[in-house]
Amino acid sequence: MSLHSETIAAVATAMSNSGIGIIRVSGDDAISIVDKIYCNRDYKRTLAGYKTHTIHYGYIFRADEKNSMVTEHQIVDEVMVSIMKAPNSYTKEDTVEINCHGGIVVINEILKLVIQSGARIAEPGEFTKRAFLNGRIDLTRAEAVMDTINAKNRYALQSSVRQLKGSVYQIVKEMRDRIIYEIAFIESALDDPEHISLEGYPEKLEKIVTSLSEKCQKLLDTAQNGKILKEGIHTVIVGKPNAGKSSLLNIMLGEEKAIVTDIAGTTRDVLEESITLGGINLNMIDTAGIRNTEDIVEKIGVEKAKKYASDSDLIIYVCDASVPFDENDEDIFSMLSGKKVIVLLNKSDLDQVITEDMVYDQLRTHGMDDMKKNCHIIRTSTLHRNGIEELENTIRTMFISGRIEENNEVFLTNLRHVEAIQNTMDSLCQVKNSLMMDMPEDFYSIDLMSAYTSLGSIIGEEVSDDLVNEIFSKFCMGK
Ligand code: GDP
Repeated sequence: MSLHSETIAAVATAMSNSGIGIIRVSGDDAISIVDKIYCNRDYKRTLAGYKTHTIHYGYIFRADEKNSMVTEHQIVDEVMVSIMKAPNSYTKEDTVEINCHGGIVVINEILKLVIQSGARIAEPGEFTKRAFLNGRIDLTRAEAVMDTINAKNRYALQSSVRQLKGSVYQIVKEMRDRIIYEIAFIESALDDPEHISLEGYPEKLEKIVTSLSEKCQKLLDTAQNGKILKEGIHTVIVGKPNAGKSSLLNIMLGEEKAIVTDIAGTTRDVLEESITLGGINLNMIDTAGIRNTEDIVEKIGVEKAKKYASDSDLIIYVCDASVPFDENDEDIFSMLSGKKVIVLLNKSDLDQVITEDMVYDQLRTHGMDDMKKNCHIIRTSTLHRNGIEELENTIRTMFISGRIEENNEVFLTNLRHVEAIQNTMDSLCQVKNSLMMDMPEDFYSIDLMSAYTSLGSIIGEEVSDDLVNEIFSKFCMGK
């Protein structure tokens, strides 16, 4: 008997016409419920007798109260039904999956029959929630299920599948095991000082806490790449009106989506598009040209552009190199410090008045540091499509090569995990402070315990029902 007495059902495949549709049923009565509406090719009800992990050809039929014999007119669809008995199923409960034809009407008809036979509609994510609550997977693996479904590129997929296999769980578990061992040691020594000595222990604990903090820091360092993996590189294109921003976006998108005109200020709001570059998503925002303007609508666009730029991973500054800098460029340069930037000296087909050195001078004046790492300058002509390949290669070098490609590292891709690791770091830092200040030993174990609890929240061992409900409510139906 599972923890959850109700048997749940939902459509596990997309609700659109397709080859097959799958209706998933899970719970103590899954088999007896489907048995009421399934018969084999000889119109016999046989489901209850089948072995676990077997798949069977037959029909779903509309039961007729008066007649226990199934007749042809009752048949709803020709199906394959698979049976997975507890505990060896996704939810650890008895599970039946009905593979029917993938039409919306037929799927709905069958789901209706399953419900009429005693199941209730599952909430979003309820199958995975049961897998978690029944102890088949921890919370990191449950979250990885959704990340795998939502993966936007192959690296994100790789990373979430690794998490699904327990990569994050394993790291967290090892750290927790280490911490609980130390807590137990301190507590036993305090209880039984005659037999367990704490002589020299603070030095040993200091080393352990330092090593744990380093592990946490290493994980936190992966979070930026993790975010890029999951969400793509948030890229903002800025520049004065008419510099060639929309032309650039169009070339990169390979279609005429942004409006290209020679009237300054045409892109009044922001355009958002996504392309895939070297397997990673590049979320491009083409902003309003930055210039001092009295036009209210345009002004809002300019303010938005500045906001997007400050939140972005990468700013591409399209600069019309055929005209001198003016106060609008000053405005743009002041947005760039602390960001990763690619400056395009565009319109390279015309006579050039702006040089690379002039750009470097401006960047220096506006406080840009580590210029070699964070800033690249490329000459382009968006009219003649020159320099675009170099731009794409530069983005690849800045964000992808060697860091995400062919890398088996565990990335933190989930904000909840990042916050919990940060809390763990804070608690470990408190332990170090107590050690430095020669505080009594029970101070160490209090902070070690809160580090243990924070790590526990990642894998779902120390989480409230509300948080569990919130996490699973973001899942799709049928998962
Ligand atoms: P935006 O306002 O920055 O989005 O600029 P657009 O992409 O709309 O381009 C403004 C004008 O500049 C259009 O007439 C384009 O054809 C022209 N233009 C864009 N790129 C180049 C370029 O590399 N060379 C030349 N000569 N003209 C360009």
